[in-house]
Amino acid sequence: MKIISAFVLFGFVLAAGYADTPAPGLKASSTELPVRALMLYGLPPSGLEPFLDFVRHDLPREGVNHLIFQIDYGYEYKTHPELVAKNAYTHAQIKSLVTVCRDAGIKLIPLVNCLGHQSWAKTNHQLLTVYPEFDETAGLYPENEGLYCRSYCPNHPDVHRVIFDLLGEITDVFETDAVHVGMDEVFLIGEATCPRCRGKDKAELFAQEVRTLRDFLATKKARLWMWGDRFIDGEVTGLGKWEGSKNQTSRAIDLVPRDIVICDWHYDSAPPTPGYFAVKGFEVIICSYNQPHVAVEEAEQIFNLRRTNRDNAMGPRLLGVMSTNWGKSAEFAQSVRQAKSSGVTEEKSPTANFLHLFEKVRQLTAAQDSKPPR
Ligand SMILES: [Zn+2]
Repeated sequence: MKIISAFVLFGFVLAAGYADTPAPGLKASSTELPVRALMLYGLPPSGLEPFLDFVRHDLPREGVNHLIFQIDYGYEYKTHPELVAKNAYTHAQIKSLVTVCRDAGIKLIPLVNCLGHQSWAKTNHQLLTVYPEFDETAGLYPENEGLYCRSYCPNHPDVHRVIFDLLGEITDVFETDAVHVGMDEVFLIGEATCPRCRGKDKAELFAQEVRTLRDFLATKKARLWMWGDRFIDGEVTGLGKWEGSKNQTSRAIDLVPRDIVICDWHYDSAPPTPGYFAVKGFEVIICSYNQPHVAVEEAEQIFNLRRTNRDNAMGPRLLGVMSTNWGKSAEFAQSVRQAKSSGVTEEKSPTANFLHLFEKVRQLTAAQDSKPPR
């Protein structure tokens, strides 16, 4: 990634000062989607070796050019060894992933959940286990009964000292110019029980954290990627409180810099939200999970919006598509291979989603390539 002042790159016009550059070796054409991503969650280091083979051979064959790799506390951080999770990746293991992705023409983007998702079920993750004082609801919800996931308090005076160390170290070890900071499904924010946040505007609190992380990553020459749900009004859209927000954060869309990249996830339908983000000035990627027909409709939407808006500033902001996997990622890679060789996939599964999505992307790209220029 480069911060550029000239705005024309690979045939599309950029609205902001950042450009999403391809990994070395990737050929970009004007009809190809700039971002064709796979997002993986929970690949244990023991599954890395076979996964590297999947990256080398299977991802390029499908046309994938971005890999979003959720790492969180699963790396042997030198800046904060006290926060390292069990079964963490070593420096050498991440370097092997970096090298294989680079050789395969795949841009590697680490994901570290910030603000929300600091616990799962009864287990608090490392940050709030080691530093319980950072908890937005410190001392409340014993055994996490009655909450979805804990958040850290964005106004705790010491929290960013730690978060910046983690993000800085992960940016370096992944040799990346983009970091995904999660920030989805943040339900605990501006809580009445937090002495620092009570009574504050939740949209402003959320936006403040986005700006804080974005500004730090800019010092590392890395661009901030994040999930988009807190920017969508879950009431007005009817999308609800998960893929939209019902906790007063949606106005934050007008309070954050437009050079962040929005990962707009919708797993059950293909709403027109990518267009909404593009109208607001953001580059956006639509994200699917386990319903192939939804993934295909989302790909069609992105291609249509790019085509019908090619002469204005919005079309090029529709960067592309992402297939997400929220199960075990080693098994996912294996099942993609099996499905590819047998030609059979379950109707509703991340594997089917992934294969159908990228098949559709290849078809739509080829159809566009075969059209005569205007
Ligand atoms: Zn707080």
